[in-house]
Amino acid sequence: MSYDLAILGSGPGGYTAALRASLRGLSVALVESGELGGTCLNVGCIPTKTMLHASGLAWEARHAKAIGLIVSDLAVDADAFAQRVAQTVSILRKGVAGLLAARKVDVRSIVIGPDASVEPAVSGRGALPLVV
Ligand SMILES: Cc1cc2nc3c(=O)[nH]c(=O)nc-3n(C[C@H](O)[C@H](O)[C@H](O)COP(=O)(O)OP(=O)(O)OC[C@H]3O[C@@H](n4cnc5c(N)ncnc54)[C@H](O)[C@@H]3O)c2cc1C
Repeated sequence: MSYDLAILGSGPGGYTAALRASLRGLSVALVESGELGGTCLNVGCIPTKTMLHASGLAWEARHAKAIGLIVSDLAVDADAFAQRVAQTVSILRKGVAGLLAARKVDVRSIVIGPDASVEPAVSGRGALPLVV
């Protein structure tokens, strides 16, 4: 299979580049060794902001007495909490997959090793050094 462009890494850098290239009419392969969406979606921005949102709500509830609301029995259900984070990540990952599928970007689940020859290629591998 050959493509006009290969993009290494499906984080926010990689998948937006893939969408942009496909909008310009290129056939694109998006190569990912891990989960679609990269650091941001799977372990970075999204899970941490989901947790921050919950902790913000807990803080509000604890301090609500000042505005006349009394919230009793506030507790953390660790399983439900973790499930909510995983569910949020999963929904957004499906959203990215849907956008890529709609633009006919071919997502390939493989690792590109340091000796691989991919050309032309865009690196979206995050902070990792690239050797192509
Ligand atoms: C805890 C945390 C919280 C964060 N919160 C925020 C935030 O709130 N706002 C914000 O703007 N940024 C945030 N960031 C930073 C953000 O996650 C990164 O800036 C962003 O993910 C970088 O995107 P990227 O596409 O360059 O790389 P990445 O998202 O790192 O994606 C790189 C992808 O390349 C893949 N890859 C690597 N090597 C190969 C290979 N050889 N073959 C195939 N695939 C490969 C990886 O599996 C990965 O999926 C946070 C980061 C962390 C860790």
